[in-house]
Amino acid sequence: MRKIETVILGSGLAGLSAAYHLRGKEYVVIEKRKHPGGLCTTEKKDGFLFDQTGHWLHLSDKRTKELFELLFGNEFVEIIRKTYVFSHDTYTQYPFQSNTYGLPPDVIKECVLGFIKAYYEKDKSKASENFYEWCMAYLGEGISKHFMIPYNSKIYTVHPKEYASHWCDKYVPVPTLEQVIEGAVTSPQQKNIGYNATFKYPVENGIGELPKRLFDRCEKDKFMFGKYPVEIDTVNKIILLNDGETIKYSYLVSTIPLKDFLMLQKGGELKELAKRLKIASVSYFNTAIKKKPGHTGHWFYIPEEKFMPYRIGSFSNIYSNMAPEGMGSFYIEFTHQGEFESENIFRAESIKMMKDMKLIENEDDILFMDYRIIENGYVIYHKEYFEDMDEVSKWSVKNEILLAGRYGKWVYAAMEDAIIDGMNAASRILEVTK
Ligand SMILES: Cc1cc2nc3c(=O)[nH]c(=O)nc-3n(C[C@H](O)[C@H](O)[C@H](O)COP(=O)(O)OP(=O)(O)OC[C@H]3O[C@@H](n4cnc5c(N)ncnc54)[C@H](O)[C@@H]3O)c2cc1C
Repeated sequence: MRKIETVILGSGLAGLSAAYHLRGKEYVVIEKRKHPGGLCTTEKKDGFLFDQTGHWLHLSDKRTKELFELLFGNEFVEIIRKTYVFSHDTYTQYPFQSNTYGLPPDVIKECVLGFIKAYYEKDKSKASENFYEWCMAYLGEGISKHFMIPYNSKIYTVHPKEYASHWCDKYVPVPTLEQVIEGAVTSPQQKNIGYNATFKYPVENGIGELPKRLFDRCEKDKFMFGKYPVEIDTVNKIILLNDGETIKYSYLVSTIPLKDFLMLQKGGELKELAKRLKIASVSYFNTAIKKKPGHTGHWFYIPEEKFMPYRIGSFSNIYSNMAPEGMGSFYIEFTHQGEFESENIFRAESIKMMKDMKLIENEDDILFMDYRIIENGYVIYHKEYFEDMDEVSKWSVKNEILLAGRYGKWVYAAMEDAIIDGMNAASRILEVTK
């Protein structure tokens, strides 16, 4: 049996970041795939670049900004976000709640009156019951009906009454009354609310360049690819791998999906809890077209049930290097739980939607549509989520396990969060081993 101070499970951004920040220490990274990067990788085909759907980098933390500068210097582009909602055959700016201008008058009226009613209702106590109640309490009936409920039902695959609301304070913007009214009566061209968010992106090779550059600075001989644990004895700190090797560790950083990680525990202390963890898978099409898209927006939220996808984005509109000169590309996303057997229906629905949105003129515009799936996409904050996570947290502290990353921690989080999680896990280990 090998003895190694730290074992890192997974080499997506969280695992890579932990490895990078532990340089010089004794550790191994165990990755089931043949390459690092996890969700943050880029495919190339016929001059087109496709990330695993949109992967646009927002940086707000000083440490990640410094790391990014070290990796990229000035080899990145900074892009101003240009996003829309498509409903009632109309493009409105995102976020929907403060940009209803252009929708049918009765829809605008419902949204504004609903917001005013919610605004003056001081009792918000029901908001913590579930996400549906949160939307009704803070955004009102009209905005909930025309965007929040249908859109979130699509992306999370369950009705907002079925999941908790505590996560949304950070991610769902609540506009002021003035913004809602201004957004209802002012043409989007005349204002810039929600228009100033920017993101960074590598000049070349897509977002996959980020983990590639991080990996290039890691100690590559400490990575084991094509390997995965089949059993983890957290009491005796022993991992059994798929090739029969056993490793005894002192510290364990897990960035692999929490549900899988808990199911691997010898003794199965938290297996019942693991069974409650739910996640939505994402099916998507890498789509290439012969012309430029019929709209210059970056990505479009699709709340209406009549369309199967929940979102379509255009790589080539966001950054022209993603497609050959004069051509265009999209990612089209649809979520579901578990396996997906309706690829052909999804393809036909996607083509219909692109035509209805006037993004393409007809099917002949399409060069190819390649189907892909992300098994673990969006964590669903099930009703017992916070109690369950509290239990997981106590258990992991007791067993000196550091959970990191979007799926390791089982949260809704971005690439920057994964990098920070890896940094924090490494700092903790450096602190206790110095
Ligand atoms: C559809 C979608 C769009 C997104 N868009 C954005 C965006 O625009 N901007 C943004 O900042 N973030 C975005 N994200 C989030 C971003 O992808 C993640 O936050 C980040 O990539 C997570 O990195 P990670 O290392 O935590 O997980 P992962 O990238 O999932 O890495 C986990 C690694 O563990 C490996 N692994 C899994 N199981 C095992 C096992 N049993 N044994 C060994 N290895 C294993 C995997 O192969 C993988 O390499 C998006 C996510 C999704 C799903």
